Amino acid sequence: SNTLHIVGGGMAGSEAAWQAANMGVQVVIHEMRPKVATFAHQTGNLGEMVCSNSFRSDDDEQNAVGLLHWEMRAANGLIMQTADKHRLPAGGALAVDRDPFAESVTAALKSHPNVTVDYGEITELPSDGHWIIATGPLTSAGLGAAIQAETGADSLAFFDAIAPIVYTESVNMDVAWFQSRYDKGETEAEQKAYLNCPMTEAQYEAFIVALLAADKTEFHEGETAGYFDGCLPIEVMAERGRETLRFGPMKPVGLTNPHDPDNRPHAVVQLRHDNSLGTLMNIVGFQTKMKYGAQTEVFKMIPGLENASFARLGGIHRNTFINSPTLLDNQMRMKAKPHIRFAGQITGVEGYVESAAMGLLAGRLAAAEILGQPMETAPLNTAMGALVHHITGGAEAKTFQPMNVNFGLFQPVDGLKGGRRGRKDRYKAYTDRAKADWTAWLATNESSIKV
Ligand code: FAD
Repeated sequence: SNTLHIVGGGMAGSEAAWQAANMGVQVVIHEMRPKVATFAHQTGNLGEMVCSNSFRSDDDEQNAVGLLHWEMRAANGLIMQTADKHRLPAGGALAVDRDPFAESVTAALKSHPNVTVDYGEITELPSDGHWIIATGPLTSAGLGAAIQAETGADSLAFFDAIAPIVYTESVNMDVAWFQSRYDKGETEAEQKAYLNCPMTEAQYEAFIVALLAADKTEFHEGETAGYFDGCLPIEVMAERGRETLRFGPMKPVGLTNPHDPDNRPHAVVQLRHDNSLGTLMNIVGFQTKMKYGAQTEVFKMIPGLENASFARLGGIHRNTFINSPTLLDNQMRMKAKPHIRFAGQITGVEGYVESAAMGLLAGRLAAAEILGQPMETAPLNTAMGALVHHITGGAEAKTFQPMNVNFGLFQPVDGLKGGRRGRKDRYKAYTDRAKADWTAWLATNESSIKV
């Protein structure tokens, strides 16, 4: 039939339903709450915010998440217009009164003539029809198992283990250098795939002391039974012994410091490319549960990172997400089962805003397909497009971890200054370009919007 079924009525599912319904498609939202609970949700409302009440920066000229707000507002987004209605004073951030917010989202969908809400858990991948799976970081165990059976165990994760990501341009290249261990690799690019930051013995010892002393966050109640192999937080490795890191992710072997070729470093921190544009690098093996403030302090002790700016900080959370770079096409369809789309945090984006954004796009793409008017995916140089292209292609599949929207995902604008000095102009240029491209994309697809 021509009905669009959406599993999960959170940030992504609610927005997808609204977009598709406004294009004239009949939508059924399958939501397991309140019948089946998660450890984080408190109500049976659609669009419930599980933790903070903030949609982060609302600055649409200098901030990528603010730009995503702008793009969603321009597309008549339900999450944004409801957030605007229930806004609380929060400086430059968009914070909302969470209960009235979720109640309004629920009321808007339930009163929409094209939307039905069916309360109950879905535990199988559907074999036909049109579907969007938007079950979020706390996807129920039954559905998680069904997805894993389809994708393979390696393609569905139940925890994220996020190492901090640094803007490449903010690394001090008078200290750091590009080299793969033992110069391994066929091509020169592979032989220089890693950025290396050397430490003396004194620097290493001070770093370990700071790691051990730093404030850490705790897991939420019910979130986990413990750590899992191969993904120990860096501070837990440090607790196991002073030399553990030097024999683990910080081992100094197979590397020669061109700035000081006669002295072998005592330890080396390595950064690896995180996107194909080369603008982002993650600190290898540095997943952590240190608090954000502590992370910036401790990581700036790494020689070469003293002035680093972070595209995102590290974390470890209960988080169900698929390996989108291998599993999804840029229409957010499962390559192996194209009648199923994925949207929201389960695609490997991170945060309320990014999740709602991926819902908006998936809802429109699915509805257009049902209406027989296929739509191009979001343009590369919009915030929406930068995100969808990252998760479905730009990100490294092997090391894929959830991503926030940030300007590191954007293609450079020609002829602008690099580095800190040009940053304000550069961000303005990115947001101007994005707004123009998004407006054009919306106009091209206007004909399919009925309401
Ligand atoms: P959700 O909003 O979680 O919606 C998914 C929906 O699917 C839920 O309503 C769930 O009940 C339903 N569902 C699950 N399985 C099934 C099933 N089998 N059948 C039917 N329905 C199902 N992001 C932030 O931006 N800020 C924060 O402060 C923040 N804090 C977080 C704290 C915790 C503990 C967690 C787990 C996540 C947090 N996040 C935060 C991430 C945030 O949850 C997501 O960014 C956002 O809610 C994801 O939207 P979503 O629509 O993908 O998933």
